[in-house]
Amino acid sequence: MPIYEYICLKCSNKFALLQSLNTAENNTECPKCSSKEVKKAFSSFSCSSGSSSSSSMSAPGFGGGGGG
Ligand SMILES: [Zn+2]
Repeated sequence: MPIYEYICLKCSNKFALLQSLNTAENNTECPKCSSKEVKKAFSSFSCSSGSSSSSSMSAPGFGGGGGG
């Protein structure tokens, strides 16, 4: 099973859990404060610069579209 990294939005705790691909992330809770407010993190991405919080969901060159 793949390891998924999560970041608690409550205590900012970072933890990894072994979850299946079809496992809902909303069922994940922080092992530290038992909070359900966790966000899935990807270790693949490497953050070099420690800038302020800035979220933007845009995929350049991501061809795709809704299908019926
Ligand atoms: Zn927590």
